[in-house]
Order: sequence, then C-alpha cells, then structure tokens
Amino acid sequence: MKKNSKCLTVTMEDYVYDSIKATIGSRVPESGGILGGNLEDNPLHINRFHDLRPAFNGSHTGASAGHFSPDHLEMNHVIDNIWTPLNYWINGVIHSHPGSMSSLSQGMKGTNDGDVEYFTNLLNHEDSIKNGLNVLIAPIVTFSHAGDMNITTWTLTRKNPFPRKARLLIVHDEKVMPVALYEELFIIDNESTYRIQSK
Ligand SMILES: [Zn+2]
Repeated sequence: MKKNSKCLTVTMEDYVYDSIKATIGSRVPESGGILGGNLEDNPLHINRFHDLRPAFNGSHTGASAGHFSPDHLEMNHVIDNIWTPLNYWINGVIHSHPGSMSSLSQGMKGTNDGDVEYFTNLLNHEDSIKNGLNVLIAPIVTFSHAGDMNITTWTLTRKNPFPRKARLLIVHDEKVMPVALYEELFIIDNESTYRIQSK
C-alpha cells in the first residue's frame, strides 16, 4: 500500500469544536472560519479557531458566487498579529455547505473560485511555504434534516492537491480555558491577560 493512501487523522480541541458549533453551526451555509495550530508540534492538530463572521468590515463575503470566500485582510490580521506571536499559524479553513454537499467544490483552474482552487492557491502562497504549511485541513460543515452539524474533513497537500478525506477526532488535551478562543477580540499586548491557564 502506498504511504500516501493512508487515512490521516486530524485532531481538534473540544473548545474549538464547541466554538464552531456555536458560530458556523448555527448559521446559514457558506459561513466559515480559519483553523490554526502549532505546525512544528503537529500540523494536523487544531487548537485555534477564528470565526470569519459575516460583515466584519463590509467586504466579507458569505454566499456570494455560491461559495465561501474569506476576507483575506481579516485572515492576515489574525494570523500575523494574533497567532504568529503565540507560535500558531493557520492550518485549515472550515466552512459550511448547503444540503448534503460534503465535498469541496471544484473551480476553474487559475482562478480563486471553488474550494479546491482556493485551497491550492493558499497552499502555494509564499507565506504558507515559508511557515511550513504543507497540509491544509479543509473541513466541510453540513446539516442533517434535524439541523445537526456534520463535519467532513478533507486534507490537501501542495504536492497532491486532490482532496483526501481524513478522520476527525475531537480531543481534550489542553488545559486552556475556552476564553482563549476570544483572544482575537482583544487586541492587547499582555498575553497573560487574555490567556488563562487552568493549572
Ligand atoms: Zn465550499
């Protein structure tokens, strides 16, 4: 069996999952956010989430063109000014789809349209290469008829940008209070004032 046919396992801290459920999981489809972690420790572990809530600065797009297209200014702000100083970087983008469309959408090559094109461009961005983003985690949220949130997790690599399904495990490894998720709301200098360790 070829090494790259092995199913990858992506782990996500439970407070990230809860936050996704409370944001993307409670909105209409084509809503999303960025995922982060420490790429050196474990590129497939998610312990950061930033909700790209609609209408952040008026230019954020939701359902336009039928797919989620994140505001790169907001993304860059979170990655550069909040995550990077704490040794975190983006390792994924999560968004919701209508109906039971749990696959990534395909777009026109050379454009930024469609999920696969967008994620491939993100992987090939010079900052992604510089920061060691070699695997991008791209979970898709869909909803059951009863309104329950389902997450289908895809991964893409720079060498092989065809989406591969991964297993998603929700874990409870970190002794960080959920308030850490709201750090991006407070642009302040002193880390200890917005990161509360429970031990
Ligand atoms: Zn999509």
